[in-house]
Amino acid sequence: MPGANGYSILFEPVKIGPVTARNRFYQVPHCNGMGHVRPQAEAAMRGMKAEGGWAVVSTQETEIHPTSDLGPYAENRLWDEHDIPALRLMTQQVHDHGALAAIQLAHNGHHATNHLTRAPVLAPSDGPIDTVFPKQARAMDKQDIRNLRRWHRAAARRAKEAGFDIVYVYAGHQMTLAQHFLLPQFNSRSDEYGGSLENRVRLTRELLEETREELDGHCAVAFRFAVDQMMGADGMQAHEEGRAVVEMLAELPDLWDVNVSDWSNDSQTTRFQPQDGFQVPYIDFVKQVTSKPVVGVGRFTSPDLMASLVSKGVLDLIGAARPSIADPFLPRKIEAGRIEEIRECIGCNICVSADNLGVPIRCTQNPTMGEEWRRGWHPEKIAPKGKETSALVVGSGPAGLECALQLSNRGYDVTLAEAAPEFGGRALRESRLSGLAAWKRVADNRLWQLQQRANVQMFTDSPMNAAEVADLEIPNVFIATGSRWLRDGSGRSSRAPLALAGLPVFTPDDIMAGKLPPADGPVLIYDDDQAYIGGVLAHHLAAAGRKVILATPGAVVSAFTELTLEQARVQASLIEAGVEIIPLHLLHSADADGATLACAYTGRPRAAAGASLLMVTARRRETALYDALKADHADRFTTLELLGDAAAPGLIADAVFAGHMAARNFERDPAAADADWFRRELISLNGMGGE
Ligand code: ADP
Ligand code: SF4
Repeated sequence: MPGANGYSILFEPVKIGPVTARNRFYQVPHCNGMGHVRPQAEAAMRGMKAEGGWAVVSTQETEIHPTSDLGPYAENRLWDEHDIPALRLMTQQVHDHGALAAIQLAHNGHHATNHLTRAPVLAPSDGPIDTVFPKQARAMDKQDIRNLRRWHRAAARRAKEAGFDIVYVYAGHQMTLAQHFLLPQFNSRSDEYGGSLENRVRLTRELLEETREELDGHCAVAFRFAVDQMMGADGMQAHEEGRAVVEMLAELPDLWDVNVSDWSNDSQTTRFQPQDGFQVPYIDFVKQVTSKPVVGVGRFTSPDLMASLVSKGVLDLIGAARPSIADPFLPRKIEAGRIEEIRECIGCNICVSADNLGVPIRCTQNPTMGEEWRRGWHPEKIAPKGKETSALVVGSGPAGLECALQLSNRGYDVTLAEAAPEFGGRALRESRLSGLAAWKRVADNRLWQLQQRANVQMFTDSPMNAAEVADLEIPNVFIATGSRWLRDGSGRSSRAPLALAGLPVFTPDDIMAGKLPPADGPVLIYDDDQAYIGGVLAHHLAAAGRKVILATPGAVVSAFTELTLEQARVQASLIEAGVEIIPLHLLHSADADGATLACAYTGRPRAAAGASLLMVTARRRETALYDALKADHADRFTTLELLGDAAAPGLIADAVFAGHMAARNFERDPAAADADWFRRELISLNGMGGE
């Protein structure tokens, strides 16, 4: 019952212009790699948020015209009336669960590439487009501006027709024309749309007024506005022009959705911004300036913080993208007082990485995210068990924990055996490294739930061999024994081991176990993996007082972290920590005199001073137990399955997903399980005269 647990303030309705949100939980617009390419998946995912109790569920940014073509990324699209049915799928599913549907209309200006449409790229002033491509945007003339306003108005009309309740004007993330006009950085015009703030605001004001006029009281108008660019005096600042904009437009929108830009600042990871609510100091002035409701974000997962922000008058609505991805049922859990069950976002941005790859969203904490339509997965429901009664899971990393939890949810008696003194596997190991403390939540959430279950027995300090597993006489066995980092230098650049003699060699597993290289000489990290852990280790060792040299074949450190919006911060933090970075070099060999690197292009050798080596190259799958069971005892098992990093080393998100899938598919018709891999959204050939 709302109110029973002290969070009743979060369940008060909020009036947003002509519509009313049933509570204060607001899923702000966020990308999901589905969009116009996968509308059924998009609708099902957004519908799940509504079912989970969010009062407002928004789309991602929605291109309003072919001159704002974000392809190949899969955002939403509302170019003309043909796009309405796909979006109506989403509004229907959101309405079916009692929530309001919001749409974020966007014209992306020079952030759009227009590679598909080959339309001219539009901007307040001439200049290159955002991505590295020899293409420039042209300064919009007065007719272009009139066209833009017409397109926006028409898109608002179509949004209303698609059933949306809230329609956005969007000036955020440095991704839209409305914001580009606001910022002198992009706007050097000398007409009435440039120069003074009043002039730079003009376009936004027109878009807000015309959207309101077009919607004519049927839908609310929201304004998403980045109050601060986090560039200090070189950009817009919350307490200077940011505030002035809010003052100028205070009562024009029905809702203020405020944040910071660009996207890497708005969606900061816990590695660089561990504080929930980190945006509050930037946005807390807004409610003092406007009488309209205000929504803000900041990776909110604590109901105490949410309630205090509302009661202190900082926010009316608790905005969330990532917390709603990690747990679509967060509002319902708070409402029911099931706080411990919330799957807290760990702030890793794997969700963001999928959008940056143009593939459907995934989440480290929530393996069902993105699979609502394709596999019919529900984050809180799972089919009951079949005729089998018991299962053994060996290994308690993310794969084993998730598998055990879901098997227990299905009603099996589950035994979980872990060799180490603590449960958690790599989620625990990696969380001991500098900046990754929040990753422990992957283990904590699952462990807490497993500990509540009567049908689960859990054992630490239990390294299992094949005979011991066979002796347990549990017919269904899931092996999640993980992987270990290689010491021999083989990996992406050299599939064969390297000649490494004379220097002590460490692996990431050593460091995670607390075994650090000696402090009396520099440690050379060879990051051939180029994902996140090499950079994390460099920072960790520098913080532990080591002189660190990081060599990598990549042009930048931790190239993978471009996808998680972290790369610039990774590189900057290592430079600041005094790490010597040697990009574009392979490790060739090492002997007692030191290491020899080779230029990635020419092979030209270069000596590197390293008294010890830390090899971050590739991982070896831990399959010994599985192999022995298969070889000697296979006839004793109904099910013997290898999963997680032991089957295919990858991200923690992949291991959780594998654990979840193994539990879902257990006792399921293999053909049906197979079909889930390729349930596709097929392109219709209507108009071709075919069937
Ligand atoms: P994943 O990411 O696939 O879950 P992890 O490496 O995180 O893999 O976890 C694997 C876990 O399995 C580790 O905690 C490890 O201690 C445990 N483990 C490995 N071999 C055995 C074994 N023979 N018996 C019990 N536990 C094991
Ligand atoms: Fe949070 Fe990571 Fe899930 Fe994104 S992928 S919602 S950052 S836990």
